[in-house]
Amino acid sequence: MYEDGLPPLRETIEKYGLNAKKSLGQNFLTDLNLTCKIARSAGNLENTIIYEVGPGPGALTRGLLMSGAKKVVAVEMDPRCIDALKEIQAAYPNKLDVIQGDALKMDEIALIGNAEGCDVKIVANLPYNVGTALLIKWMTGDKWTPWFNSLTLMFQKEVGQRITAKPRTKAYGRLSVLCQARAKSYVNFDVPARAFIPPPKVTSSIISITPHDEPENYPPQKTLEIVTAAAFGQRRKMLRASLKSLGVNPLPFLAQAGIKETARAEELSIEEFCRLAKCYILK
Ligand code: SAM
Repeated sequence: MYEDGLPPLRETIEKYGLNAKKSLGQNFLTDLNLTCKIARSAGNLENTIIYEVGPGPGALTRGLLMSGAKKVVAVEMDPRCIDALKEIQAAYPNKLDVIQGDALKMDEIALIGNAEGCDVKIVANLPYNVGTALLIKWMTGDKWTPWFNSLTLMFQKEVGQRITAKPRTKAYGRLSVLCQARAKSYVNFDVPARAFIPPPKVTSSIISITPHDEPENYPPQKTLEIVTAAAFGQRRKMLRASLKSLGVNPLPFLAQAGIKETARAEELSIEEFCRLAKCYILK
């Protein structure tokens, strides 16, 4: 038993027969000291509603509730986990909502409901197979400032490096631009493979992401998505060649944005990508 009165995670996993499914990206945490550390890295959780994707048997959910979260709203795809999560609901009455389904299809604002006077934070150990798609969903919404105050997310280390990468590095790409155009992000700490059952092949990282206000000259989001897809789609080519995939002559809007036609995507700063996207619309 732990201080929350619930059994060790290994027991829960065994009791409910939660043998990990690769197709659902299942690698479960079992150490509540670690999950409390992840919860603390999301800041003060009092008066905070947490949106968690993929609670599984509930290691992180318990860490969040032990760390004082006002409420956790959790979306889990695997129906086998729901009974295990009911034990946590019983230990924390009215503090845990569990929704069974695909997080990619959820309307998070509707699930969270009235959050007046509260912070809303996303904290999750994301399934590696849909982690990037979920991050793109959250970071590319039409409305900005977004519905959440921050994201504290576990990714494979390599994905974390792509999110936080700076220009002129190998990891710098479309994900770096789309995330950093709208938020500050950094690697909080690494989590070794041995912390999971079963252990994945690679190290994981906790990434902290805090949205900032859109700068005044921010381009329409869709345009930034289109331009970064074209530029990084052929990242080794010069922009005068890679941007031809947009279906128009790129030279006039490259010139208008003050960007050398011989530059490559990985050399452009976030501000330059935003400028380029704006000039592309005005072309
Ligand atoms: N949070 C748990 C932990 O830290 O031990 C489990 C993390 S495990 C890496 C990912 C979880 O996401 C699994 O429980 C899996 O069933 C769930 N999952 C996978 N795809 C999902 C989806 N599309 N929507 C919601 N949950 C999903």
